[in-house]
Amino acid sequence: MRIAALATRLELPLLVTAQANVWYLTGLRSSNAALLVEPDASATLFADFRYAEKARAVEDVEFVETSRYLLSSPAEILSGRRIAFEEAHLTVAGHRTLAEGGVELVPTSGFVEALRAVKDDVELAAIRRAAALSDEVFAALANEPFVGRTERELVWWIERSFREAGADGVSFPIVVAAGETAAAPHADPGEREIERGMLVTVDAGCVVDGYCSDCTRTFSTGELPDRLADAYALCLEAQLAGLAAVRPGVAGRDADAASREPVAAAGLGWAYGHGLGHGVGIDVHEAPTLRPESKDVLEPGNVVTVEPGIYLPGEGGVRIEDLVLVTADGAERLTRFPKELITVA
Ligand code: ZN
Ligand code: ZN
Repeated sequence: MRIAALATRLELPLLVTAQANVWYLTGLRSSNAALLVEPDASATLFADFRYAEKARAVEDVEFVETSRYLLSSPAEILSGRRIAFEEAHLTVAGHRTLAEGGVELVPTSGFVEALRAVKDDVELAAIRRAAALSDEVFAALANEPFVGRTERELVWWIERSFREAGADGVSFPIVVAAGETAAAPHADPGEREIERGMLVTVDAGCVVDGYCSDCTRTFSTGELPDRLADAYALCLEAQLAGLAAVRPGVAGRDADAASREPVAAAGLGWAYGHGLGHGVGIDVHEAPTLRPESKDVLEPGNVVTVEPGIYLPGEGGVRIEDLVLVTADGAERLTRFPKELITVA
């Protein structure tokens, strides 16, 4: 049980206020709940009237119905106690409510996120389905005309395709970035029509049973300037080098470094300005991270992206991203759509 696994890591009671963490630990999906987990694995779930019926059905936790202002009840109940809280998720207002109620607060981070970083079979099944839907949608997209359509039209086409294929929704705002727009890693899709001879970066993912997928492919709309064709080949080389480095025991920063070598050797290190990848699960960005400053070490059950990019201001950009499961002895690609440069109409 997840609460028991968390409790073994705790020295102080932990007040969990990140909704994704509450859901992970209890199965309660809500917009207004908190969970107190004691080091002896007993737990108290706080939620308001709207979620009371579902919260009462959660096994092995005591339920306390709160007012709409969630933290006033914990502030009373926990008064005089020393409690750890999630510093990345408790608001300043929530902190004040608890402190004014007489709770002694100790900041912590990453306890639940560390558990979430290692996926169990149920979680993996959902992520595999989300990745398979991504493959399906990218395959259909490659048969769609790009030239003459706007980035926003394609974004909507992709989003609709995910829903029609059975996804619960998209896992983040879809990126379709053509030509110079693609020189920004997280470009906002606009009304500009896609032209011939461009690179078009498509970064998209969906949600299945609460779990995300994340995949990027860069398509060509016809004959490219040499610089862009070379950038594509180099990005693919970097992506394969990053993939080859992903296995248990490898530091996130070392996998990142492996992907940077070919890019630096080509003199384009400056054009690869973000990390190699990130964990994916309930959130599309979660632990562990693969980037130069990462302190994470990969372990079996991690699901991470491998997504180098090369961005040439004024010319265009390319990014290639796979979703990957760290296995006992290596890595398994979960997104399998081809990565050689595909020319679309
Ligand atoms: Zn992505
Ligand atoms: Zn990503």
